[in-house]
Amino acid sequence: MSRGAGKDDQARNRIDWERMLEGVRGLVTYEASLQGYTSFRIGGPAEVLVEPADVEDLARVVARARAEHLPVFVVGGTNVLVRDGGIRGIVVSLRQLKGIRQEPDHVLYAEGGVGMPTLIGYAIRRSLAGLEWGAGIPGTVAGCVVMNAGTRLGEMKDSVKAVRMVDSRGLVADIRADQIPFSYRRAHLPRGVVAGVWLQLRPGDHDQIEHRVKEYLQYRKHTQPLTLPSAGCVFKNPPQDSAGRLVDAAGLKGARIGDAQVSEKHANFMVNVGHARAADVLALIKKVRAAVKKTSGVKLELELKVVGQA
Ligand SMILES: Cc1cc2nc3c(=O)[nH]c(=O)nc-3n(C[C@H](O)[C@H](O)[C@H](O)COP(=O)(O)OP(=O)(O)OC[C@H]3O[C@@H](n4cnc5c(N)ncnc54)[C@H](O)[C@@H]3O)c2cc1C
Repeated sequence: MSRGAGKDDQARNRIDWERMLEGVRGLVTYEASLQGYTSFRIGGPAEVLVEPADVEDLARVVARARAEHLPVFVVGGTNVLVRDGGIRGIVVSLRQLKGIRQEPDHVLYAEGGVGMPTLIGYAIRRSLAGLEWGAGIPGTVAGCVVMNAGTRLGEMKDSVKAVRMVDSRGLVADIRADQIPFSYRRAHLPRGVVAGVWLQLRPGDHDQIEHRVKEYLQYRKHTQPLTLPSAGCVFKNPPQDSAGRLVDAAGLKGARIGDAQVSEKHANFMVNVGHARAADVLALIKKVRAAVKKTSGVKLELELKVVGQA
């Protein structure tokens, strides 16, 4: 559906989508606002947003999209900036894939849409240690695998045992962790959608695990702007340095374009202080990169995923 299409064109296209998605049991929304699906609360709509009912439903959506040569973008929502024109094609949210189960030998299986905070709460209740480093990371477990989310204390790759994928043909396949090369904020996975993750944890003392999680959450509260919408760290840390330190050294803490602002609390966070547009955030990113290049000679790389059209 192109922008500015007449009502008839829109109706015809709507019917095509409906035919294409026939049999999909999950929730389908047309021209869905993605602001409620992103922690930044910024960005245009998804042409079609699908929330598959289960893995089989997800596989059906991916296979149909492939047959029609349509792109599929998966949104967890906490490290993305959706441009103001939104995302054409199919956007998938795994919000309905939220099952967790415990398996033998201290292994947890979590469906892709499970939030990290929920997963960590589940592990605490079962006295399973190994995920405490991730306390306060708001992404889905699938998004955290794809991004190899981490902190100074640990990374997703330390616990991943295997990944269930729906590949680009719509086939379900399980991949062992030793077949997945992980690097800084990236898992080198085949094309497709992460539908679930097995995590190898270890038995621990309930109170100690809970204490560590509370400590890390407290530390985040002091160091990160958690009361304003953001998408976490905007830039990757350059080797042996910190992107926040470089932005601060360039004098840009608090710099603002429109309603997008470099956080006063943590210079590698940008926050939405009102009704920021993606264009504001992108202009601020450009300004920060230029200033850091000038003051320290470092070319900052984006950690944030920028998607969609202007
Ligand atoms: C307050 C705050 C604090 C944060 N702290 C940290 C931190 O300490 N460490 C850290 O690493 N990150 C941090 N983040 C960033 C973010 O939570 C992580 O990057 C997380 O891994 C993103 O997960 P997500 O589900 O939101 O994925 P998204 O941000 O939506 O997606 C990231 C990328 O993964 C892809 N993707 C998502 N799900 C799937 C899937 N199921 N299958 C295939 N591809 C998929 C997307 O298409 C996109 O390309 C923070 C964010 C916030 C807002």
